[in-house]
Amino acid sequence: PLNPPNPRPLNLHWPPCPTAERVRALSKMGCSIEINEEITPRRYFRSGVEMERMAAVYLEEGSLENAYVLYNKFITLFVEKLPSHRDYQQCSVPEKQVIIKKLQDVAFPRKDQLKKLLHEKYNKEHTEYLKSQSQALVADCCGQQLQKMSLVEQERQRVAQLRRMQMESEQFRYFEDQLRRQELANRRDEAVAKVPEQTDGSCLSHSSKNHVRLDPNRNKQLLPSSKPAATLAGVHNQRIEGLRRVVIPRDLTYRFLLLADSNTARGIETCGVLCGKLTQNEFMLTHVVVPKQSAGPDYCDMENVEELFSFQDHHNLLTLGWIHTHPTQTAFLSSVDLHTHGSYQLMLPEAIAIVCSPKHNDTGVFRLTSSGMREVAGCRLKGFHPHSKDPPLFSICRHVVIKDSKTTVLDLR
Ligand SMILES: [Zn+2]
Ligand SMILES: [Zn+2]
Repeated sequence: PLNPPNPRPLNLHWPPCPTAERVRALSKMGCSIEINEEITPRRYFRSGVEMERMAAVYLEEGSLENAYVLYNKFITLFVEKLPSHRDYQQCSVPEKQVIIKKLQDVAFPRKDQLKKLLHEKYNKEHTEYLKSQSQALVADCCGQQLQKMSLVEQERQRVAQLRRMQMESEQFRYFEDQLRRQELANRRDEAVAKVPEQTDGSCLSHSSKNHVRLDPNRNKQLLPSSKPAATLAGVHNQRIEGLRRVVIPRDLTYRFLLLADSNTARGIETCGVLCGKLTQNEFMLTHVVVPKQSAGPDYCDMENVEELFSFQDHHNLLTLGWIHTHPTQTAFLSSVDLHTHGSYQLMLPEAIAIVCSPKHNDTGVFRLTSSGMREVAGCRLKGFHPHSKDPPLFSICRHVVIKDSKTTVLDLR
């Protein structure tokens, strides 16, 4: 009853100025955070340290929108949401002070600064748009004054012109769409093409069944595949299923398995943290850190994470996921693994879980599905326990690419 019948306020400006709306939409994107009480405040503080790291990269690369969204997220998380966490008051970790300082010195001032820059940028775009509109109007008026031409001829030309413009814009949209599909298909092919080389277990291998699902529109392509997709659409490092790409060095699992070797021989698991950087809106995996740990045939718990954190802080690294071995089992995510990965993915949607099964010569790169995230968020059970099976709770990552680059391995055990 409090809502007026028409929720949209009367807009007195015409044409409407989209600038404020565009900025508001971005701010809104930065507010969509929910706190999970099962996750310790420290985890959120650590995530905040990394959020600020990512925002700084976006800012440096001139990606104003991404930086703005991230600073908004940072502020929402630490000013509005996290203080209501049941363990917030009792939590005294060094990161708490770091975050409070970052809020004052970095996040708030940069957010305001970015807001100003975005307003300027969008105003400029809007002014240019209006200018082009009025030019078109002037041209149209001139055309109407050429009354020497017969009315019938004018009408014929006008219709022809309209039709041509419509066709052109349809064609343009169609090409754009095709290029986008092609780009996606190419990326998939790239990932698929790498797989057969890796079945010797020295690198990443994926079970092939999820990789043969090709885009049904692929054969309808009009353009030669050699044409770079980015030329027309202007896309760069496009998201795959809404996720930024994660680049994995080809030697990563091999290097990790070497470290794990003595554990593997005794049938004991080994785990490590995957770290890396953000560049040009994609994540590059660069380091594997193997912290002190206690492990058995079907579990692996990291200990003394302080060492890991200080290494990450020192090298400005982001947490991109984790890796562990299944010395006797196949590569999959157990119920315990699902919970472990759930919290990684909650902090970073692109986070990956690499599971190596040396015995079965298999490696999987996994993430939780949305059903998986829901199931884990609502599950309070510990240790190995049953979960629902359908729909699947985890799947093979499509947003990863394997490249020839070097991994740095750090063994803290
Ligand atoms: Zn496992
Ligand atoms: Zn569970």
